[in-house]
Amino acid sequence: MIKMPRLLLILLIITLISIWFIFDLGHFLTLDYIKNQQASIEVWKSENPLLAVASFAAIYITVAALSIPGAAILTLTGGAIFGLLWGTVIVSFASSIGATLAFLVARLLLKDWVQQRFGDKLKTINEGIEKDGAFYLFTLRLVPLFPFFVINLLMGLTPIRASTFYWVSQTGMLAATLVYVNAGTQLAQIESLQGILSPELLISFILLGLFPLIAQKTLAKIKQNKIYSKWQKPSTFDSNLLVIGGGSAGLVTAYIGAAVKAKVILIEKNKMGGDCLNTGCVPSKALIRSAKLLSHIQRANEFGIKKASAEFDFAEVMERVQRVIKTVEPHDSVDRYTKLGVDVIQGEARITSPWTVEVKTNGSVKTLTSRNIVIATGARPFVPPVTGIEEVGYLTSDNVWDLREQPKRLLVLGGGPIGCELTQSFARLGSKVTQVEMLPRIMIREDEEVSEMVTTRFRNEGIDLRTQHKAKRFLIENGDKILICEDLANDCKEVRIIFDQVLVAVGRAANLQGYGLEELDIPVSNTIETNDYLQTSYPNIYAAGDVTGPYQFTHTAAHQAWYVAVNALFSPFKKFRVDYSVIPWATFVEPEVARVGLNEIEAQQRGITYEVSKYNIDDLDRAIADEEAHGMVKVLTVTGKDKILGVTIVGEHAGDLIAEYVMAMKHNIGLNKILSTIHIYPTMAEANKYVAGNWKRAHAPEKILQWVERFHAIRRRTTNKEVALKASVSAAKIKQ
Ligand SMILES: Cc1cc2nc3c(=O)[nH]c(=O)nc-3n(C[C@H](O)[C@H](O)[C@H](O)COP(=O)(O)OP(=O)(O)OC[C@H]3O[C@@H](n4cnc5c(N)ncnc54)[C@H](O)[C@@H]3O)c2cc1C
Repeated sequence: MIKMPRLLLILLIITLISIWFIFDLGHFLTLDYIKNQQASIEVWKSENPLLAVASFAAIYITVAALSIPGAAILTLTGGAIFGLLWGTVIVSFASSIGATLAFLVARLLLKDWVQQRFGDKLKTINEGIEKDGAFYLFTLRLVPLFPFFVINLLMGLTPIRASTFYWVSQTGMLAATLVYVNAGTQLAQIESLQGILSPELLISFILLGLFPLIAQKTLAKIKQNKIYSKWQKPSTFDSNLLVIGGGSAGLVTAYIGAAVKAKVILIEKNKMGGDCLNTGCVPSKALIRSAKLLSHIQRANEFGIKKASAEFDFAEVMERVQRVIKTVEPHDSVDRYTKLGVDVIQGEARITSPWTVEVKTNGSVKTLTSRNIVIATGARPFVPPVTGIEEVGYLTSDNVWDLREQPKRLLVLGGGPIGCELTQSFARLGSKVTQVEMLPRIMIREDEEVSEMVTTRFRNEGIDLRTQHKAKRFLIENGDKILICEDLANDCKEVRIIFDQVLVAVGRAANLQGYGLEELDIPVSNTIETNDYLQTSYPNIYAAGDVTGPYQFTHTAAHQAWYVAVNALFSPFKKFRVDYSVIPWATFVEPEVARVGLNEIEAQQRGITYEVSKYNIDDLDRAIADEEAHGMVKVLTVTGKDKILGVTIVGEHAGDLIAEYVMAMKHNIGLNKILSTIHIYPTMAEANKYVAGNWKRAHAPEKILQWVERFHAIRRRTTNKEVALKASVSAAKIKQ
């Protein structure tokens, strides 16, 4: 739908361009015409100097704004009429104003459309323009080989600010304006436009254009040298890659380094496997499994079993969790990595220079040198400074695994993935769980209906879910531990929640202190700041995993690990920008929630128009047979196309089902192809195909189908010839 101001603008532009062509105004902007009229124009100008300036500027601005050819001729004319100084001033302003108007026209009419259609592809360009747009524009403006009007229009489609566009254009075009205006002062001698820029002049402009690029590279090099200048570089190195931290990011980095035959040192101060193995993914999934079994036993009659009960000991469940960790442990062990060729050191690392790391092991300290260092030191649970929290004592995902006595009343602070997974597990194990979340809903990153589905299930399972409750203070009264919250939806009324244990799961903070970042002055915000190649401010020091973000998952840590290993070992010959275009994740609550790409909230935030196709899993044969007929597959596609922007799956095995869509998005496979792929019957995976079927039905070519319907109707009719033939056959039969 075209809005009114846009429509008016389009009409205005069409009218002006039509006038231009109908009245052949272009013939006024030829070299011959200007030369012939030069004397009379000059007379008119000396009689009406102000009017001449205003008319000239108005014509110039109009021509540039409408992107009509003629700017070069007008610049010469400016020189011929107004001389070098005033010609340059007038042309400089008129051309910059005209260029900015053309830029704004392109922006108003096309930018939204271009960004919506190709936003995902343009992401890198947009980010580049936001960061260095002025610089690129300046380079383009310096070299008059790049067409003036093309730059105006293309820049309008990017996110560069109009004011930046104006001033950079004016400054960048000044040199070329001066050359053309100067040439215009000698108009009589000019035979063609091409002649103005001699090869020498062109080369000078190209050099001028290259100058900012060279300057930028040189400055970067100087900056880099400066950052290294105070450090003494070793003449040889003990390793090519020294990795600090043996969690998901560090292990995969070391693995890749060793696989490509580099000398790799891996330092881990605590347990190999880091968070994921010891306190994160593995224990939580093991606990979730035991809790799920209990929930199935409670649902026994849904499966046609009259009665089933379970007798269990909480401590044994927690021991099973440890058993699972022990079973997985060899995958991440010192032994395995040593066999892979990695030199594993159990000790605490501290970076002491861009190439040296001090390691404390069992009381001894040694210094190791490395050409590259990878920081993979992970994150830890963030504990908010709520009054009294230390006095009541708290659990986090670090130590909850040590529990052997089940908390009767468990309070969980936080409605994110970790808080939700542990809330449901403990509730299923029999704790009375109250979950407190400050925001209006749990799992806030997901679409509202997704939170709603999980919330409904939580409440049905007896979880006391308190959203919009802000923890104010903890206290102990008559031996009872109490949390005082503010009910944000109820005039901040104070609410008291009594509990036996509190589990804090309000987010994770990157480990940034105590191992040398401060001494090296490596910039950090909430995480270590890295560039697109995952380099810190020291190009040979990289960071990967939770310590740098932006995602905090094992698979993203492993994904980044590939980039840091390859970039560190093969740069400057080859280096890769980390690609975050298709990042999936799952929250392992029931109903399970998995996502890849955009959901509706994010699409709307980014101004991307989309279509939604949905398939409700309550209709799926396999889900019905399994008593798991709930949830949905929701796919966002580019309007009118089958290109997938993002998928959310809620339901049994959502984390596994999403893999098909991760693959599809990664390799640009659309819904049509998913629809034409055979899915085994009866499986949950059929849901992926059925949603594609729903999309297809919504995009059925109605007009063509109407014609096809007519075609079938015609084919049902008997022709006259067939009627006659039938009649003669029956007549012959009667005669016989
Ligand atoms: C309860 C829970 C459940 C989770 N579930 C999932 C899930 O289902 N799926 C998923 O993808 N992700 C999950 N995660 C997140 C996942 O665990 C992390 O994203 C992942 O472990 C990050 O890996 P990392 O290598 O960056 O950091 P870590 O695994 O934390 O590793 C960092 C390592 O560095 C070591 N270290 C730190 N400083 C030093 C030093 N100075 N010297 C030597 N060693 C040092 C630490 O001891 C640690 O072993 C979960 C997390 C939690 C807490």
